[in-house]
Order: sequence, then C-alpha cells, then structure tokens
Amino acid sequence: MDHFGYRQDHLFAEDVSLATIADNVGTPCYVYSRATLERHYRAFDEPFGEYPRHVCYAVKANGNLAVLQVLQRLGAGFDIVSGGELDRVLAAGGAAGDVVFSGVGKSIGEIEQALQAGVRSLSIESEAELERVDAIARTLGKKAPVAFRINPDVDPGTHPYIATGLRENKFGVPASDALRLYQRAVAMDSINITGIACHIGSQLTQLDPFCDALERVLDLVDILSDNGIVLQHLDLGGGVGICYADENPPTPAEYTQAMLKILRRRGCHLSVTLEPGRAIAGNAGILLTRVEYIKPGPAGDFLIVDAAMNDLLRPALYQAWHEVVAVSRGGTSPVRDCDIVGPVCESGDFIARGRRLAAVQGDLLAVRSAGAYGFVMSSNYNARPRPAEVMVDGAAYHVVRERETSASLSAQEKLLP
Ligand SMILES: *Cc1c(COP(=O)(O)O)cnc(C)c1O
Repeated sequence: MDHFGYRQDHLFAEDVSLATIADNVGTPCYVYSRATLERHYRAFDEPFGEYPRHVCYAVKANGNLAVLQVLQRLGAGFDIVSGGELDRVLAAGGAAGDVVFSGVGKSIGEIEQALQAGVRSLSIESEAELERVDAIARTLGKKAPVAFRINPDVDPGTHPYIATGLRENKFGVPASDALRLYQRAVAMDSINITGIACHIGSQLTQLDPFCDALERVLDLVDILSDNGIVLQHLDLGGGVGICYADENPPTPAEYTQAMLKILRRRGCHLSVTLEPGRAIAGNAGILLTRVEYIKPGPAGDFLIVDAAMNDLLRPALYQAWHEVVAVSRGGTSPVRDCDIVGPVCESGDFIARGRRLAAVQGDLLAVRSAGAYGFVMSSNYNARPRPAEVMVDGAAYHVVRERETSASLSAQEKLLP
C-alpha cells in the first residue's frame, strides 16, 4: 500500500498534486511519500511484538538524507555498504551504534572509519577481510564487533544481477567453512564475535528461499554453539520484493511471521536484524517526467520524455518493468501504443517499452515504484544534471535535494595550465 493515488483524475502524493510539484520544482524529479516510508518501516517492525529485533534500513536503496531522517525518527537502524553511507547516516541524525556494515570490499579507510565511529557490527565476507579487520582494530586499540556473512547457497529465484546467496556469487563465506573461520576469529585478540548474517538477494517474490536460508543459518548457529561459540544476533538481510507489475511478493507481515515461526520452532532466541531496502523505499517514490516530443515509429510511437537512463537506470540495467501512468487522466489525449524513451544517445535508454498510454506533447507522466535503486543509481551521463528530490508530508512538500546544475557538474574539474 502506498500513498500515491488519483483524486478526480489527478495523481496525488498524499495531499499534494504531482502537477503542482512539476510546475514548481520542474521535471524530471523524484517524489517520495513520507507516510508510505513510515508505513513500510512499521510493517517490518511491528509484527515482532516483544521479540528483540533491529530493523536496519538498507541505505543503498535510497540514501537521501531526508529519507534516512524519517526512518531514523521511527527508531530504524541502518545497513550500509560504504563509508560514504556511514557519513550519510550520521548526517541524517542516526547513531553509529545502530549501523551494520556489509559489503565484500571494505577498504582500510572504511574499516578504520567504522571502528572509530563505533558501528554495531561488521559483516565479514572473507578470511582476508577478517585478517584486515583484526589488524586495524589492534592498531586502533579496539575490539571489532563482527558477524560472518554466510553464503547459504540457496537460489533466490530473482534476476541474476541481484542474486547474492548462490555459491557462485561473490558474497559471504561458504557455510562449510564457517566453523573454521569462527574458531579462527575467536582466537584473535581484536575481534569480538557478535553474530551471524546472511542476505541472499533482492526482489525476492517467494518465501521459500528466505526460509531455507534461515534454516541453514540456524543449523550453523547450533554447530557453533556445540563448539562453544555463542552468538548474540542473527542478521537475516533484506530482499523482500515489491510489486512492480503483477508480482505477488510476500508482505512484510507474511515474511516476518514466517521467520518468527521458524525461530520459535527451532527454539532460537537470538535478537534479529532485518535489512529491508527496496520493500521500504520502492513504492514510496515515483519519478515525475514530462513528454518532450512524440515521434512515430515502426511499431507505435516513441514518447520522448525528459527523464532518461541516467535518472532511472533499472530498465536499461535489468530490463526492469516500471508502471508508467499519466499524471492527469480522463482528458482528450489519444491512446497510443508506445515506447517511453529518454534523450540519452543510447538505444538502451528507455524507461518503458510496449505500453498503451494516453498522452500528448507536454503531458506529465509518473514512473511508479521508483523510490528504491532510482536516484541512487543516477549519473551525469550526457552531462545531464541529476534530478531534484522532493518529500511529500501530508499537505506539504519539501525539496530535499536541489536539481544539479551544469556548474555543479564541472565544479571538481580543472583545465590544464
Ligand atoms: C542490498 C542489500 C540489502 C537490501 O536489499 P533489498 O532487496 O533492497 O531489501 C540488505 N542487505 C545487504 C547486505 C545488501 O547488500
């Protein structure tokens, strides 16, 4: 459920008309709904009741400071994958003690930064990383809190680029190696083992892979405990899918209930960390764009809009499908078979293909489900300034990131002497 909907044929975000935002802020422009972000966060958090848990929003899905601030105020923690994301969390008012740090390639600088700031846990993804973290912690005179990220070798049934829990993926350490690695880590002076983690992929639409992964991680928890290694927390990662088209992903409530049921059956009382990103931010945002030209093509029209692959990469990168709707409907615009494409000089630059849409030049369109992996993947390709970002909050809206300018794009460049 989200808070984007039509009122008398005009699309609104909460109580604000998207046409008003387009007129005042310009297009292309990302628009987020605060009420939707809050609703989705609570949908993961509330089913836990008294069970100890920490919902750590995955910053990489949408790292806008205002988005982080909204979630931080609800009590969210954060899952980060870079030092830059840690800076963002702190700038938005988050506490390092609520941060878990994942990722296969943490640099020396990032590990130092995380240990100095005092993150809650580092997810260790290789033996080489364990050695590096131990050495850095020793130099800093600290004990590094760590959890191994286990690769449970389950097929999440998602796009190959966003599957992360298969043996052939670069993520995590194999379950078969876990006991040896934990035993090595126990022997290290500057390592403090806190938990175990896994994250098997993104945009998962079935519960089974999550359940299989949890069972496999709990098998390991038992093996570790039999060997005297006691953990405090269990990080189940993110990955719950959203509805872009006709997918039928588990709801956050179904997902959390399934996880809790397994934990109860297995007699596990470890505190749980969840790392949802897409399921919180995805349907809390749209990309607002305007039709620049309509050009006839061999199999319908090209709607050439002012948003492009540099603004929303998902269609070009994953052949992702986003619903595209008219911001005002019920008018006299003719319905056409069309491809919705951007101005970038690539044939891969499309927002949506093979659609039927009523539109004329100058009309506004909303690309739905663009709140996650949207702005964060944007670039300046073709020297295009990245779009503005707006947060709607009831009847008010706030520009939470100004549109870039040509001057800001070249600010870091220098001509030769
Ligand atoms: C990307 C990522 C997430 C979030 O995934 P979603 O599919 O957006 O929920 C969570 N944890 C880790 C380690 C990640 O890399």
